[in-house]
Amino acid sequence: MTPASANVGRVREASVSRYTAGRLSPIRRVADLRRLRDEQFDVLVIGGGVTGAGAALDAASRGLSVALVEARDLAAGTSSRSSKLIHGGLRYLEQLELHLVHEALTERGLLTSRLAPHLVRPVPIMVPLPAAPGPARVWHRAYYGLGVAAYDVFAGVFGTGRGMPLHRHLTRDGARHLFPSLRADKITGAIRYFDGQVDDARLVVNLARTAASLGAAVVTSARVTGFLREAREVVGVKVRDLEAPDSPEFEVRARTVVAATGVWSDDMSQMLSDVGVRPGMRVRASKGVHLVVPRSAITGEAGLILRTPTSVLFVIPWGGHWIIGTTDTDWHLDRSHPAASARDISYLLDQVNMVLDRPLTTADIEGVYAGLRPLLSGEADSTSKLSREHAVVEPMLGLLLVAGGKYTTYRVMAADVIDRAVRRLGGRSRPSRTDQLPLLGADGYAAAWRDRQDTARRHGVTAGVIEHLLERYGTLTVHLLAMIEADPALGTPLAGAPEYLAAEVAYAALAEGALHLDDVLTRRTRISIETPHRGSETAAHAAQVMADALGWDKAVQEREIEHYLARVEAERQSQMMPDDLTADAARIGVPDVRGFAADRGADDLLEIDL
Ligand SMILES: Cc1cc2nc3c(=O)[nH]c(=O)nc-3n(C[C@H](O)[C@H](O)[C@H](O)COP(=O)(O)OP(=O)(O)OC[C@H]3O[C@@H](n4cnc5c(N)ncnc54)[C@H](O)[C@@H]3O)c2cc1C
Repeated sequence: MTPASANVGRVREASVSRYTAGRLSPIRRVADLRRLRDEQFDVLVIGGGVTGAGAALDAASRGLSVALVEARDLAAGTSSRSSKLIHGGLRYLEQLELHLVHEALTERGLLTSRLAPHLVRPVPIMVPLPAAPGPARVWHRAYYGLGVAAYDVFAGVFGTGRGMPLHRHLTRDGARHLFPSLRADKITGAIRYFDGQVDDARLVVNLARTAASLGAAVVTSARVTGFLREAREVVGVKVRDLEAPDSPEFEVRARTVVAATGVWSDDMSQMLSDVGVRPGMRVRASKGVHLVVPRSAITGEAGLILRTPTSVLFVIPWGGHWIIGTTDTDWHLDRSHPAASARDISYLLDQVNMVLDRPLTTADIEGVYAGLRPLLSGEADSTSKLSREHAVVEPMLGLLLVAGGKYTTYRVMAADVIDRAVRRLGGRSRPSRTDQLPLLGADGYAAAWRDRQDTARRHGVTAGVIEHLLERYGTLTVHLLAMIEADPALGTPLAGAPEYLAAEVAYAALAEGALHLDDVLTRRTRISIETPHRGSETAAHAAQVMADALGWDKAVQEREIEHYLARVEAERQSQMMPDDLTADAARIGVPDVRGFAADRGADDLLEIDL
């Protein structure tokens, strides 16, 4: 076993480019699995959602030796199922939680201007002012106007680079001009402001890759099944490789274990229940459902934020689509595959139809997804740092739990938990520097965007293709273009999802850690929610590209397609069920794909140069 201090020195070979080091290739997985068995890490992070990937990056960028293990795919939990907004939270402003607004707007500014400008972009959102008699109308405009103005002031004055245009007041005609589908009788005007929009799953992959580029071992399909303990201290974890279900569990040793397991956080404390550990916090799950409809179903150039009886509803433009969400209900069933029921869907349609001039029906729906909010509940003990948003607790020496919060503030959560880890590890104090660390693909992005027409001309593709690639890969786009140059077949659009290229599937498998067809159709691309066939018409083509990249034989290829189609069908069935119980029963008929690829030996994998 390598001592931790020695690992620090081998964080990254100077001769290896950051891009190469950040490539989550099949061979890299094999090497990282080996590292898990052989090394003792300073920090081992459990959970490859935004919090875990952020924590791994924070720790790696402080020069610590780091491993990240994720039971399924990167962002397979809540972090691919959010409303995809990087926002300050107008709601917190209303509740006068000014420090939370400030914190989130600072993060929004950092992400859009420095850390991930290729992935986080401004999106205009309108607050419609409801039709009301004279005095109420004045009150509404003053109330919301002040709120949105304060939001801009917080971002501009206190935030790190606003990165967003300022808000504007609109008359009823102005609002209808920007959003013709808004019912005129429902509004007296609107206020338009800006927030950030992100492809949540892609940002997580990018965080994990950036951590890998700094030397972190990143292994997906690696489920933690228990903790290693010496006396009353956690000194590592037991891991099962779900890609090789017949191989025995193995031990990974670490000086600090960080569990960033979202709605699975209580499972972590339960693994220590035999020693009577008090968890220090509890996390409950609240389900949020979103619908995806085509852009043509609603005419508008901005998003909407609407009040609902229980919460708020967003209608947000998403490429050629709209995302409409969300619900907010307790969930106690399968956490891996939360199911949307017919009731959830009709609730969302009812809410949005109150303000639309052409009501949406189920026939308009292209995709549906459900996610689980990890909400803190119960009391924190004296060792905890519990804000209304997130908490870091140390239920046992050597184990830190971090949970709660929201996507936007992942970096703050990551810095908090790694600060605690660093204090525990002792030695030189190393403050977080992730506020200064652009993610892979961010460096040189503004120039690449400016030169996109020239790049398109040079590569014989349309400017639209380059824009699509830049907004998903940033300056790493050059690697996809090189792949297409080497194999022009990769430049062809995907069957059933022509806005994506075959190259993106190959790249996902060779550089972005995608191990299964589902990873590619659901998270590296969003084909599963952006097409009425939900990816079923793309499955065969994408599986063929993955097979070519990963060396799958026919049996693996067919099994991947079969599983994906069964998953789509189970989701469709669940969405026709009246309530949570029946929807869950319909969805869990198809188990997770992890564990299917048992017969793919590590030694069969080839390193394919990009
Ligand atoms: C409907 C909805 C909308 C939202 N919208 C927004 C928004 O617009 N903006 C915003 O800022 N926030 C939003 N949020 C909140 C945000 O999405 C979450 O706070 C965030 O994604 C949580 O990330 P996480 O990494 O903590 O959890 P997760 O993403 O769930 O990650 C936990 C990971 O741990 C893994 N894991 C669990 N057990 C194990 C184990 N034993 N071994 C290994 N791995 C394990 C899981 O597989 C999972 O990948 C929304 C949330 C929901 C539900």
